[in-house]
Amino acid sequence: MTARRQLERAGTLLEIDPNVVERLKYPQRVERVSVPLERDDGTVEVFTGYRAQHDSVRGPFKGGLRYHPDVTEEECIGLAMWMTWKCAVMDLPFGGAKGGVVVDPNSLSDGEKERLTRRFTQELRDVIGPMQDIPAPDMGTDAETMGWLMDAYSMQEDETTPGVVTGKPPVIGGSYGRETAPGRSVALITREACEYYDRSLSETTVAVQGFGSVGGNAAVLLDEWGANVVAVSDVNGAVYDPDGLDPKAIQAHGDDPTAVMGVSSAQQLSNEELLTLDVDVLIPAAIGNVLTEANANDVNASMIVEGANGPTTSTADVIFERRGIPVIPDILANAGGVTVSYFEWLQDINRQGWSLERVNETLESEMLSAWDNVTETYELDEDISWRDATYVVGLQRIVEAHEYRGLWP
Ligand code: NAD
Repeated sequence: MTARRQLERAGTLLEIDPNVVERLKYPQRVERVSVPLERDDGTVEVFTGYRAQHDSVRGPFKGGLRYHPDVTEEECIGLAMWMTWKCAVMDLPFGGAKGGVVVDPNSLSDGEKERLTRRFTQELRDVIGPMQDIPAPDMGTDAETMGWLMDAYSMQEDETTPGVVTGKPPVIGGSYGRETAPGRSVALITREACEYYDRSLSETTVAVQGFGSVGGNAAVLLDEWGANVVAVSDVNGAVYDPDGLDPKAIQAHGDDPTAVMGVSSAQQLSNEELLTLDVDVLIPAAIGNVLTEANANDVNASMIVEGANGPTTSTADVIFERRGIPVIPDILANAGGVTVSYFEWLQDINRQGWSLERVNETLESEMLSAWDNVTETYELDEDISWRDATYVVGLQRIVEAHEYRGLWP
């Protein structure tokens, strides 16, 4: 599993106690549940759900719940590990978790999705909670799903408990700015990385794969800050205009998932071609494993900022390192999502509401501070990559926490 390989590599860089690395290779717990659902036609179908809880040495578990036919226990464990590192890189008092149900959400009616969510929540009730494990939306789930989860949990606990889940609509304790946060953090880190390499944003060309929540918001902000976004894509293909596109003029993915190919003034390319465009910054923000051994040598970008989770395979990483192309990793660049989830949880447990301005300002200062921590580590050793430096920052905090808490009994 990539997550375990990355842990082992970072472990050797840090010369940390191998006993702690050994503990971190395994999740603390994986809950596997059967979720019976009464379909609209009256038949009952049973789905399998998981919640992998990786490490909680620094606080409650935190991570998304996905509804997807390919959800597996192994995948949940790997994604839970990434959440542990991501929270530690951002210095959030959370550990990592991930879960989901093996189901195609498109095959469910709204009513079926709601019943499935409520029953899944009930099955997980002993292992989730605002001080225990706080789920969030992921693939196939959204703010509405999180609202059902909060309601199901609250009904059983006999107390309105918004802090059990993040990514809810603001009217029931959600945070303003949560949906745009991962894209905003990608844009902020891209801006900082450009500055680090003495590249002025106004002279920077950017290609973004995936014009969804992460990629769309990142493209709009970078354009607003002066960068020249020359290419964007969705699942159907890419559009490219060397003179620059206007990302604001393209309908958001949530409103029209096929809007990208409707940009008539631009040249149409495939997603593969977008990845090899001669641009300053490439932002893969659609799905995992798109930069591989097969295309890493054809990438012409000067820098890669990972918007999606895991877009670069380990082999491609080695190629980019050899070619001197910096890759700013996902667990730093897209960590704005979990950071604003933390703000949402703070608002919920303190019964407060923050303004959008406060959320965005606090997010920016948290991202800049994480960027500074990673940069300091990156500069300590000329042989390490940005990914290594980011892992070292996160892992150092986790290892230290394990050392202070010890192993009981
Ligand atoms: P989304 O569904 O809003 O958007 C995904 C975009 O990618 C869409 O434009 C879609 O058309 C496109 N796409 C889908 N399959 C594709 C393919 N095979 N080739 C090219 N394009 C394809 O999703 P999102 O929330 O923006 O998430 C994108 C990535 O970012 C995922 O890896 C996700 O795990 C990660 N991420 C999301 C969040 C979040 O809170 N939304 C936070 C951190 C990381």
